[in-house]
Amino acid sequence: MSPNLTERPRQDRATKLFVPELVYFEPDALNYPMGRRIEAWAIREGIPHRMTTSHNRITDLPGNSETEQYKIAKRTLVVGLRKTLKFDTSKPSAEYAIPLATGCMGHCHYCYLQTTLGAKPYIRVYVNVDDILAAAQGYIEARSPEITRFEAACTSDPLGLEHITGSLAETIAFMARQPLGRLRFVTKFHHVDSLLGIAHGGHTRIRFSVNADYVIRNFEPSTSRFAERIEAAGKIAVAGYPLGFIIAPIIWFDGWQDGYAELLTRLAAELPPEAGRDLTFELIQHRFTKTAKTIIEKRYPKTKLEMDEEKRKKKWGRWGQNKYVYPDEQAEALRMFLSERIFEAFPEARIEYFT
Ligand code: SF4
Repeated sequence: MSPNLTERPRQDRATKLFVPELVYFEPDALNYPMGRRIEAWAIREGIPHRMTTSHNRITDLPGNSETEQYKIAKRTLVVGLRKTLKFDTSKPSAEYAIPLATGCMGHCHYCYLQTTLGAKPYIRVYVNVDDILAAAQGYIEARSPEITRFEAACTSDPLGLEHITGSLAETIAFMARQPLGRLRFVTKFHHVDSLLGIAHGGHTRIRFSVNADYVIRNFEPSTSRFAERIEAAGKIAVAGYPLGFIIAPIIWFDGWQDGYAELLTRLAAELPPEAGRDLTFELIQHRFTKTAKTIIEKRYPKTKLEMDEEKRKKKWGRWGQNKYVYPDEQAEALRMFLSERIFEAFPEARIEYFT
């Protein structure tokens, strides 16, 4: 195996589908059709693959330094079963997080997975989708007659893995049959073609993470380019899916007004008319914890990401750690400016929250 340690520079060529450089299978994975399908795919693609007793026991990743091992781990796939079928909550975007995968091949500097996945940033996919969907059914029934929303992108970017797993397609089809179930996920990838023909029943909202060009260029290596995400969003709208955009993280950089105004102008100019039919926006300002800052500075030492605690407001976080957000005045300026640009560009759109 010769891992390519170079992050892909942002160029105008099409972003390719993710192909891991190493695949591990946990013991029972090959007893499931998805596990066997992934094994056949790995063989066809010539990807080295081996068995492991558990993802926790993976200690033989190549790489001479922690940084190298981190980069290799992000190109390593672990195929196993989801054992915990108790779902986390996922406020404010949904009631529950539905666990289809953990980890991501993207290298977004600010990504909170840097902290939550700790020293094990490899990508895990789960072959027992039927068990996961049965658990979702239980949650839906428990909340009946309320609608229950499930977020599929809390611990991963599942669209970036869909060509390997097919689990989003299964979950979309399952939710279409649930009068009280809704699925949503967000992505920075553009490979949507396999989802376009699914009978989704309008029960899945697909959101694209978008940002000012400055943010995408500087902080989002190894994800699809802005133009690709917009084109994919257009296809999703034409296929009749409810569509959304998450602008996150909203960053206060020199020229942010121009950057975010241009973002909204481009969205309005490039999306097909179908996109305006049922469109939502979610707005999330940049935040970090001290732990995240230490990890980010180690993994991306040249990052331009501003993480100066002195310039931020301290806020008590859900995971028992203080997080640093923008001071109220700056946060409010960002919220107002973006809301105005959104309603100018899409008068019918809904802003679901700013946080
Ligand atoms: S694409 Fe999303 S999940 Fe993946 S690294 Fe970037 S922010 Fe994290």
